Amino acid sequence: MDEELLIQEALRQRRRQRTGMSLAGALALAVFFAAVGFLLAAHPGAITIGLPYPFSPDFLGPVLTAFGVIALLIAASFVVTAVSGPRPRDPWGEPAPGDCPACGQPALRSGEVTVWEASTLLAVASGTVTLCGTPGCPHATAGPDRGLAGAGSSPGPLGRAAG
Ligand SMILES: [Zn+2]
Repeated sequence: MDEELLIQEALRQRRRQRTGMSLAGALALAVFFAAVGFLLAAHPGAITIGLPYPFSPDFLGPVLTAFGVIALLIAASFVVTAVSGPRPRDPWGEPAPGDCPACGQPALRSGEVTVWEASTLLAVASGTVTLCGTPGCPHATAGPDRGLAGAGSSPGPLGRAAG
């Protein structure tokens, strides 16, 4: 059962990585913060113009400029995240040795996967999943780590080997 959870989580990660959603999201946020930061830092008058007395440009100008600089720094950090993060082109996981038993191609890739229980944020399963990178090939194996799900009462691998 843990194997099935791990494989499904690995497939979900691989699908999400292929869509490039994280990269596009980070770039969109970077553009947003850069635009806001540039507006605030370079043109504080564009914000304060037409505002009533307490929000005078003399008072708000330096504050808006400071916020603008912070927004620009946030934008830069998003750009760094987007550039250094996983690319959509990169396949999931690390190359694994051997040929796929299902399709015979040396396209196996493996990675560490942890499945979280949504409501409690406790890890319900964790282990190494090996997926085949060949399009359409359904081969997938998982090796759960010991000591997470069902721990406590379980004798563990040593007890299992003895009994
Ligand atoms: Zn295969």
